[in-house]
Amino acid sequence: MLIFDIKRYAINDGPGIRTTIFMKGCPLSCIWCHNPEGVSGQKEKLYTKKKCIGCSACVEACPQKALTLTADGIVTDKNRCIVCGNCAEVCPALAIEISGTEYSTDRLMKEIEKETLFMDRSEGGVTFCGGEPLLHPDELLELLRRCGELGIHRAVDTTLFARPETVRKVMENCELLLVDLKQMDTKKHRLFCGVPNEQILSNLRMIAEAGHDFHIRIPLIEGVNADVENMTQSAAFLASLPWKRRCVNLLPYHDIGKGKHEKRGSVYNPNRYPLSAPSEETVERCRSIFAGYGIETIIGG
Ligand code: SF4
Ligand code: SF4
Repeated sequence: MLIFDIKRYAINDGPGIRTTIFMKGCPLSCIWCHNPEGVSGQKEKLYTKKKCIGCSACVEACPQKALTLTADGIVTDKNRCIVCGNCAEVCPALAIEISGTEYSTDRLMKEIEKETLFMDRSEGGVTFCGGEPLLHPDELLELLRRCGELGIHRAVDTTLFARPETVRKVMENCELLLVDLKQMDTKKHRLFCGVPNEQILSNLRMIAEAGHDFHIRIPLIEGVNADVENMTQSAAFLASLPWKRRCVNLLPYHDIGKGKHEKRGSVYNPNRYPLSAPSEETVERCRSIFAGYGIETIIGG
């Protein structure tokens, strides 16, 4: 399985101090995605123009003759590039990176076990996210079982766009699911995230009815989901679930994904939907809608 990041000492991916594993590949394509390098299931070459010193070492090292040094930095012919990584290896300025490293479950367990002291002391654990970790059910379940045998707290950050049988097995092998609720209207969900939402909502209901712990996060984006109608539908849906936590994190929009698109040579928000951060007034309005349904809100985190 391809891993595109391992974040240590993470404090926003579940309780305590955690090691967060980012698995490559996602069935959604949210236009505001913060980790666009996690969407494709393949290795990718990333290029940071402002680091490049124009030395041409990468051009010479490329066996495919895929690179050209131009006045605007290095240009890659994607039809030629086979993502072999030679260019990244020779770049003295670390301007080229390869996103996606192959890990076996044994190798990943070694990475996780390095941090068990911090996890134990902080009542933290491990969080599997992506991309979408449920795209790798066999590897994910093995990792969850092995972490469970070691007494490590296990969280899975998932879109829930997956077969109910997979969600059920993952749920039975972790302590916490972290779920983003993005948009209640399935047509708008498809428009902004690339897939409809019925499967996601029905999986969430299944988890709640099973009495399993889950944590809801809502990205709050003007132009996508911060309107009264969507917030009211979201709050009403969550209030209808048998759910003990009754608290959601509202995450005001920021365009952190933009710079990553530049590195990938892809375009952020290609259809130019008018996305913006919610005003304080909008955030307060959203909070009061949730409060009206007996649901506490936390801003950020
Ligand atoms: S990853 Fe390999 S093929 Fe692609 S540009 Fe770099 S050296 Fe060339
Ligand atoms: S090797 Fe690195 S610094 Fe040199 S031209 Fe290529 S990307 Fe730029």
